[in-house]
Amino acid sequence: MTGHNNLNDAPQVGGALAHLAVTDWAPRVVLLGRQGSGKGTQADRLAALYHVPHISTGEAFRAAVREGTELGRTAQVYMDRGDLVPDDVTVGVLREHLVKEAGLGSGHPGGFVLDGFPRNMSQAVALGEMTGLDVVVNLDVSTEEVLRRIAGRRVCLDCKASYNVVNDAPKVAGTCDHCGGQLVQRDDDTEEAIRRRLQLYESETAPLVDWYTEQGLLATVDASGSPDEVTERTVQAIEAARRREALR
Ligand code: AMP
Repeated sequence: MTGHNNLNDAPQVGGALAHLAVTDWAPRVVLLGRQGSGKGTQADRLAALYHVPHISTGEAFRAAVREGTELGRTAQVYMDRGDLVPDDVTVGVLREHLVKEAGLGSGHPGGFVLDGFPRNMSQAVALGEMTGLDVVVNLDVSTEEVLRRIAGRRVCLDCKASYNVVNDAPKVAGTCDHCGGQLVQRDDDTEEAIRRRLQLYESETAPLVDWYTEQGLLATVDASGSPDEVTERTVQAIEAARRREALR
């Protein structure tokens, strides 16, 4: 299973962000951005605001590792190195989650927020064959900021909610605000694996920015600042895409 893909598990977006909640549109969103740009955090919030599933291939692989499945054993080898899991495996996992959670192929497909997929051109082509998209949001943040954030990243062992001790700390250190679970660093947040993932982002994933720009789908969002500020900007970008679509 992916992180907060089950809507009943989704964190409630209240307080300062409640005014952003949108209930009459289920957009099909892809989040692009370097590791540490806040994709997981923003995907959770967008999923709660738009009532669509958050689908994370990285979280699907981590769940398979925890469950000790064949898929988990295969994925772990690549994840520990910071390498990409082979496309045939990853595309299969994504398809399965789109079918189960977003109704792909059901005649009534819904919206979704994809976090961590696609990560290269062949995955982007495979996704395009499965579904159309409404907007691709590029969460733009500098490499220095990303390295600082990854060092502070913590994830709940139980519900997978993510925090950052630097700019998005839990109320009680080491404890999840949502479920009281224990907060830990991810196994693949080692310096070596992080460097490898950032290199791969530049060579494999960054070219997708141009590709989606050519298709008129890309919205670049400044991902510096607090998570709330980034959510505000991201919702604005999604709503702008909606207005553009309405005019087409
Ligand atoms: P993430 O949580 O998105 O940072 O993903 C963690 C790890 O899972 C990555 O470093 C890859 O090893 C693997 N992974 C996640 N998504 C993909 C993908 N779309 N293609 C290949 N490998 C992936």
